[in-house]
Amino acid sequence: MSQTNAVEARNVIKAFGQGDNAVRALNDVSVEIRQGEFFTLLGPSGCGKTTLLRLIAGFEMPSSGTILLEGQDITYLPPNKRPVNTVFQSYALFPHLTVAQNIGFGLQMQGRPAAEVKETTARMLALVKLEPLANRKTSQLSGGQQQRVALARALAPQPKVLLLDEPLSALDLKLRREMQIELKRLQTETGITFIFVTHDQEEALTMSDRIGVMSAGKLQQVGTPREIYTRPLNRFVASFIGETNFLPASSDGKSLTVASGHQIDAPAGTRSGQVTVTVRPEQVKITAANEPGSLPATVRGVVYFGTDMNYQLHLADGTEIEACVVSDVTGEAALTAGQTIGVRFTPGAAQVLED
Ligand code: ATP
Repeated sequence: MSQTNAVEARNVIKAFGQGDNAVRALNDVSVEIRQGEFFTLLGPSGCGKTTLLRLIAGFEMPSSGTILLEGQDITYLPPNKRPVNTVFQSYALFPHLTVAQNIGFGLQMQGRPAAEVKETTARMLALVKLEPLANRKTSQLSGGQQQRVALARALAPQPKVLLLDEPLSALDLKLRREMQIELKRLQTETGITFIFVTHDQEEALTMSDRIGVMSAGKLQQVGTPREIYTRPLNRFVASFIGETNFLPASSDGKSLTVASGHQIDAPAGTRSGQVTVTVRPEQVKITAANEPGSLPATVRGVVYFGTDMNYQLHLADGTEIEACVVSDVTGEAALTAGQTIGVRFTPGAAQVLED
């Protein structure tokens, strides 16, 4: 028997404004978010990710379509009737209350017995490792500590789904990385479904069980971080997540001829005709010039990144591509600008795009 989804959006359209000024923030979005998963909505500013989150929270109603929570239609249910909580970028803590009072606030509002509020608050303080600061005012905390309080407060009523709207964007890079690990741990330990919104692709790749990539009010692709990175469906997804190369290719359905010469196997289901192929820079292998089966290339530029070297290459048909090679111990570039070399692609690494 298949498990009920935690959240489902079915053919959701959300328009703001009227007539010529109307904006379609969501344009027929359907997605199934599974119970207990860390699901990330990823996309550039204005793509509609916050709007989708607000529809799930109940702060907005869709123009059409349905939102379900564990199979129940909640499209028009008020926010306070939904077993859902939200953590915002601005933590929205009460500065005059202590850490413990902030965490217990929601439970008190729900009229839970004092003993339960005390017990749950203690458990949440332990979960986010803030026991020593229980009696401190939240105005006397660092940004990372405030974020932990906001998380503990949102988790305290044990929501079925926790919505997180760019919760780490106010933190500096080091703290952000620490909180990424912390968030993942909290999600695993509580088993609560997390729906996380970010425009940061690295954050999405490192934390998520699955990612929904959005652009212009549409979901472009849903998949695991590995699927999204290694098998992007279209040009937008391929270029939004990580660095990549695009190459024109002709396909006969079985093999692809890339950059006027290099033959590689076509993935199953590839259509015949002119297509665009994408290959990640780390899947471009440098060979000796004239090695059979490799493409002739000229080195245009060399950039040292510490852990790896980045080579800008010019292929015979005029296509420019990048190759990323792990640095050797000396960190010296193996290649120099102007040099003639050959390149190959790791078998199976090339992906044919839908558009
Ligand atoms: P960001 O990362 O910048 O927050 P986002 O992907 O979350 O962006 P949304 O906030 O969902 O994007 O906005 C999607 C589109 O809808 C944008 O074009 C935005 O200007 C528009 N929009 C959002 N809320 C409203 C509103 N209340 N009235 C009018 N337009 C809105």
